[in-house]
Amino acid sequence: MGLVKTVDKLTVTFLVDNSIEWFTKLPPGFTHEMRLHLSEHDPPIDEVTGAPLLDFENYCCGNVSPILRTLCLIEVSWVEDRKEIFTARTTLLTYLGFFISFCVLPSPSAIAYLLVVGAHGFSALIETEVEGEESHVVLFDTGPESRSIARNVAAMKVPLDRIERVILSHWHSDHSGGLLSFLRLRNEAIHHQDKSESNPPQQQQPDSDTTPTKPIIADLHPDRPIARGIAPLGKLIGQLNPDPTFEAIEALGAVVETHKEGHAVAGDTVYVSGEIPRITHFEQGLLGAVRWKGDVKTKQGEWVPEEDIMDERYAVIDVAGKGLVIFSACSHAGIVNVVRDVVSKFQRPIHMIIGGLHLATPDLIERIEPTVDFLTNKLRPAPTYILPMHCSGFACKIALERALGEGCVPAGTGIRAIIDGNRKLEEEGRMWAPTIAS
Ligand SMILES: [Zn+2]
Ligand SMILES: [Zn+2]
Repeated sequence: MGLVKTVDKLTVTFLVDNSIEWFTKLPPGFTHEMRLHLSEHDPPIDEVTGAPLLDFENYCCGNVSPILRTLCLIEVSWVEDRKEIFTARTTLLTYLGFFISFCVLPSPSAIAYLLVVGAHGFSALIETEVEGEESHVVLFDTGPESRSIARNVAAMKVPLDRIERVILSHWHSDHSGGLLSFLRLRNEAIHHQDKSESNPPQQQQPDSDTTPTKPIIADLHPDRPIARGIAPLGKLIGQLNPDPTFEAIEALGAVVETHKEGHAVAGDTVYVSGEIPRITHFEQGLLGAVRWKGDVKTKQGEWVPEEDIMDERYAVIDVAGKGLVIFSACSHAGIVNVVRDVVSKFQRPIHMIIGGLHLATPDLIERIEPTVDFLTNKLRPAPTYILPMHCSGFACKIALERALGEGCVPAGTGIRAIIDGNRKLEEEGRMWAPTIAS
């Protein structure tokens, strides 16, 4: 065995992302949220027509309402001084949103559509299966706040009691903000399950103890900051919400494990990296990132530059006959640095790259071309699929789609990807190590 076991099946369910995508035809193995609800989630049936309902009230949230989207795009157009292009797109999206809201969706779902808001963050549920062994379920990141994860866990019918570990990619609240909410939900689900298993309904006793009997591990980097913010050109414009403290996480029954080094979890089927070496010249971290250093008690401290975000970690699963699936939630390290580290450690082909590629803001545009060139030309074999999610940005997605065609998958909240392994290809020795052209 290398750093991890190869698995026979990997199932990924995206719980929080910045977007929802229902209509694009996806490659084999990917399923939209709507199809999952209709085929697997026992949809409600309309009393009059007998037809299964598209029950939007209970679907994932993750798409920005047309009103908010309009406001955002108007702002972007003003900031970037590309008025005509953005105004045209704004108008199109607005009309499309209102058309869907009032003409396609039945009321009151139309109103719900107008009220739901996006969730700038990332969270993915990962299930690994090795034939003849027990399967493992872990959560990679938890989204930005308490509501999106709660709603989407319910919508996607996530088996909370089966999740054995929650891994935080890094200390930024768009990834850690849903952690406490998730732990509470899990406790409630297990508590409820334990009660109904141990007592028939008529014999249930009042029970104040909500500590779960099955502890979950919180897999965290030890270097939790007191606060992080963003200060472009040296001027602080905002601080992210504080990340949950170790104490708050433990108070909800989780066992905190801190890791600076790479390690295998989930029955040795998931690799969580250590610090990612920064060697690519054009990947210079999160521009304008700052950390507050000081004393919480005296409130004396200062903001210091911290563009490297060295606590960031990626996760990797190795699927038999397919190769590696990489989760890089925000890629502050740079996705090229991530891939270089993965290639040097695993010497296995890369099947899929998932995550935020952090190439959205105008100051990062110049990184797009060399990044796409690396992923699709310099790296051989090139990944079969790249899923640019979360903070990847519009221009990056377009560039990847141009280079990879359908290999660039527009994944989003509610989409499930199943990657089936093939042991025969392993036995035939067809999984050669990738090469990287200089
Ligand atoms: Zn981040
Ligand atoms: Zn992020």
